[in-house]
Amino acid sequence: MGSTRDILLASPAAESRNAPVIQFLLIVAWHWTLVPATMEFVDWWLGYGASISGVPVPTPFDLDRALQQLVHPLLHCLLVMMVLVEALFSTIAFRILTRRRPADRALFIRLWWRVCLWGALVLPAGTFVVAVVSGDWGLAIRVPLLWVLWMIAGPALLARIHGFHRFPPGHCEKCGYNLTGNISGRCPECGRHVPLGLQAK
Ligand SMILES: [Zn+2]
Repeated sequence: MGSTRDILLASPAAESRNAPVIQFLLIVAWHWTLVPATMEFVDWWLGYGASISGVPVPTPFDLDRALQQLVHPLLHCLLVMMVLVEALFSTIAFRILTRRRPADRALFIRLWWRVCLWGALVLPAGTFVVAVVSGDWGLAIRVPLLWVLWMIAGPALLARIHGFHRFPPGHCEKCGYNLTGNISGRCPECGRHVPLGLQAK
């Protein structure tokens, strides 16, 4: 089965009906941990007092202050905004670029989570590199903000890279075979795995 691993790694083989729910919760948890952690880490590395406005204030690392920032209402407002903006605009981009209907929500959430997984590598590394190269916290803090743009475009771009836009829902995403009535979870034509939610009803 390997279902838990498939869900965690955003694999197409994630069979569980709960997969989209679990992956959405992971997306939320990702935002509430990775984004603040990245900001705190860069803040600590540079010895700056991070501020949302991006004005660098050199101070030594202070755990109490860091914890205060993590529970700061402004941070949570920012994170809620970030998730809402991503969800709204990435859904629009996804529908335009893939011509997929809401029935493919499972596919969308899986790709959104996959974008997050990439972000777990690229976001801290990118912020870190920009901070070190420029020495400018104000510039480095824009990396997580610019990251939102990639989060918006990411699911749609991944869907296109994987060719999900080529055939309408209910057809094999690889060869276009009509999967009406197919409950085997595999395309009889090419053998490709059929992700949950893409089978014809
Ligand atoms: Zn096929």
